[in-house]
Amino acid sequence: MRLVSDGQDIVYRCNICGSKNRLASGGFHRETALCEKCGANARFRGIIHVLGELLGTGGRACLRDWPQRPEVSGIGMSDWPGYAALLAEKFSYENSFYDRPPQLDIQNLTAAQQGKYDFVISSDVFEHVLPPLQQGFDNLFALLKPGGGLVFSVPYTRDPQTVEHFPALHQFEILAFQGQQVLVNRNAAGALEVYDNLIFHGGEGATLEMRLFCEADVLERLARAGFEEIRVHDQPQLSCGFYWPELTSPDPAAPTLYAYIISARRPHAAGRERR
Ligand SMILES: [Zn+2]
Repeated sequence: MRLVSDGQDIVYRCNICGSKNRLASGGFHRETALCEKCGANARFRGIIHVLGELLGTGGRACLRDWPQRPEVSGIGMSDWPGYAALLAEKFSYENSFYDRPPQLDIQNLTAAQQGKYDFVISSDVFEHVLPPLQQGFDNLFALLKPGGGLVFSVPYTRDPQTVEHFPALHQFEILAFQGQQVLVNRNAAGALEVYDNLIFHGGEGATLEMRLFCEADVLERLARAGFEEIRVHDQPQLSCGFYWPELTSPDPAAPTLYAYIISARRPHAAGRERR
């Protein structure tokens, strides 16, 4: 994103709860810069900003003031409860979870889930999705009605390639070994592989990081799934506090993360299905 000069205060109105905030530009980060009232971080405000654009609903108003449109159906994948509750008031929206009801396993959709939604929100989920990865993207497309919109985010680089941490995953378990968790995989050829230094997000469990995406791969996979109007939202919207600079790590060997929000649309035209 275009950098806001250091030391400048950004005054913004949270586009989720509507409250006014002031924060020095250096304090903005994708996962922090929390709204003082509702606790939304910059990513969550970005998700709602992009959803508002997709639905033609947002404008400059905050989610709390969006009109009720129960005819619009949507689903979130482990969405932040702070905006999920408001989305459920405005739309026929349901949050979903990988491991508990209301359940959505993006690799195993039920017939009832297909072609049902006007919008899908998948924020920081796909770095955890089990292979085959393209099938997950194809199923995002399959969830949507023709003309439906996707709001998508993952941590990603602008390196040339996505890095799969476990490229030959076949039969695997995460096991405790001498006080550490390790992943043991039997690959398709029958050989055992052991991986340590696992990266978990938000605590240990079903949140193992499977890969670090690159931007080009995300865009290519969305296009291959059939999406059109694929957009990277890399410009800040300071008035609602949707801003973060590139995410550099103190470790000079670690790649810079861009990790912007991406939107895409399932085409309207009937008969134009997956390529
Ligand atoms: Zn707020």
